[in-house]
Amino acid sequence: MNHGKICVSVCATTAGEMLDRLDQAIPLADVVELRFDCLSPEQIDKVLENLPKANKPYIVTYRPASQGGHSAAGFAERTAFWSRVMDKLRDHDFMIDHEEDLDLPLKLGPERTIVSFHDFDGRVSDLPSKFASLSRFDATTIKVAVTADDSSDAIPVWRLLDEAGSAKRRVIPIGMGEGGKWTRILGLAHGAPLTYASLDADSPTAPGQISASDLEDVFRVKDLDQETRVYGVLAGDTSYSLSPVMHNTAFKAAGMNSIFVPFQVRDVARFLRRMIRRESREVSFNICGLSVTNPHKQTIIPQLDEVDGIARRIGAVNTVKVEDDKLYGFNTDADGLIAPLKRIAGDISGACAVVVGTGGAARACVFALASAGADVVVLARDVEKARRLADEFAVRWQPLKPGISDVAADILVNATPIGTRGEHEEQTMFTADELRDVKLVYDLVYNPLETRLLREAKSAGAQTLGGLDMLVAQGVRQFEIWTGETPAAEMMRRVVGERLG
Ligand code: NAP
Repeated sequence: MNHGKICVSVCATTAGEMLDRLDQAIPLADVVELRFDCLSPEQIDKVLENLPKANKPYIVTYRPASQGGHSAAGFAERTAFWSRVMDKLRDHDFMIDHEEDLDLPLKLGPERTIVSFHDFDGRVSDLPSKFASLSRFDATTIKVAVTADDSSDAIPVWRLLDEAGSAKRRVIPIGMGEGGKWTRILGLAHGAPLTYASLDADSPTAPGQISASDLEDVFRVKDLDQETRVYGVLAGDTSYSLSPVMHNTAFKAAGMNSIFVPFQVRDVARFLRRMIRRESREVSFNICGLSVTNPHKQTIIPQLDEVDGIARRIGAVNTVKVEDDKLYGFNTDADGLIAPLKRIAGDISGACAVVVGTGGAARACVFALASAGADVVVLARDVEKARRLADEFAVRWQPLKPGISDVAADILVNATPIGTRGEHEEQTMFTADELRDVKLVYDLVYNPLETRLLREAKSAGAQTLGGLDMLVAQGVRQFEIWTGETPAAEMMRRVVGERLG
């Protein structure tokens, strides 16, 4: 438990819409930010006249375009705005958030003043000096936001938490963008007084903002403290990952002081050095494990202290446990893949299993199926990759040729992205007609829950299995490796299924 608050930021272009959103935001928030810079002057007046009594503080913001806001007002106009607004708000509990170019003529006192600075293009290299210069204002709270595409881009702004105490200030450090989400989640536990949230997933007012309900229910930001065990998904793009919702559901159900956050990372070695390894890291939260996904499953291997036999054999690590200052690598994809398959197909030894693809998932799949005694055939468009993978695991291979792909197999596994929501959705490599001799079709794609391939398989009369079960099963194994306990698998499955609609 910490003393931080969730501030829901509300931005709309008309007064009516702004007031509607305020009605929705007030019950969710501890503090509500009124982004007046989104409104034209006459709309601002309408909002001020009808502003509800919130029984919680408002933060008033009028951010110019140079600081990432929407207001085109010049210096004099902005100064006039503040005088007018402060007068009209005198019956409300409110704070002001102003930029460093304005030293307001009307003072509210340091406790009710935030001075903020946004750096969208990395032009400020010395954030401690910037922080010192912002400390000249009569404001207890200083908000500094920088763009973070990679998780480590947010380290300098996070480290302002160390400067805050000696400057007798409170700091809100924000990494804007996907790479900075960890600052929004962990900030309150490490001394930030506020974290900003969007009203819902579709209305962020700044890059990387998380919805208030997710901050409260999924990330439990107000319950975290400096002892909280931190886990995270290490990926090139974390924006689609369902691992945070899945693992946080399990941690919450188990009553553990543990949290799972997204770490969007370009360079694994740099990330491990700057954020994870105790001897070199520049942040001090209690990191205990990682779920590793594309494109880092292979590149992380040389960076680890130990890699278990199965992960080494597959050539990919999807799970890291951090213990006694050492990093241990595991692969739970193979177990995760085979467990649901065996649940519906029983013993698969001797079954003919065709695996389409040669990427990371296909490698785990070929290993798992061959280890379970199946007669595996790799099918891929790149014959060299198919041959190499098949040779490595001593299985057969065939080229994948569009249009002439009748398959005769007990089990067909799709380990390619074909069918995934987005550009590949509604694509399939096989029609019902081509699947008439297949008994079971297993599509590792889980978004959408039912792919075109699974629909084709159903109409061919085959049994079907989607990727959700594997996603959950590999996550269950990860949880067991990290904690030594069995998680609430059904709850994990339900929340992920709900997110996928
Ligand atoms: P990956 O390493 O990028 O491999 C993708 C494979 O698909 C490659 O062999 C690629 O062939 C092939 N491929 C891509 N487009 C193709 C096309 N149009 N026609 C034929 N083959 C094509 O990806 P991955 O990590 O193995 O993941 C593959 C899929 O499995 C993804 O959709 C992922 O979401 C899913 N997956 C699911 C789970 C789960 O828990 N359910 C876990 C892991 C992965 P080339 O090499 O020729 O490009």
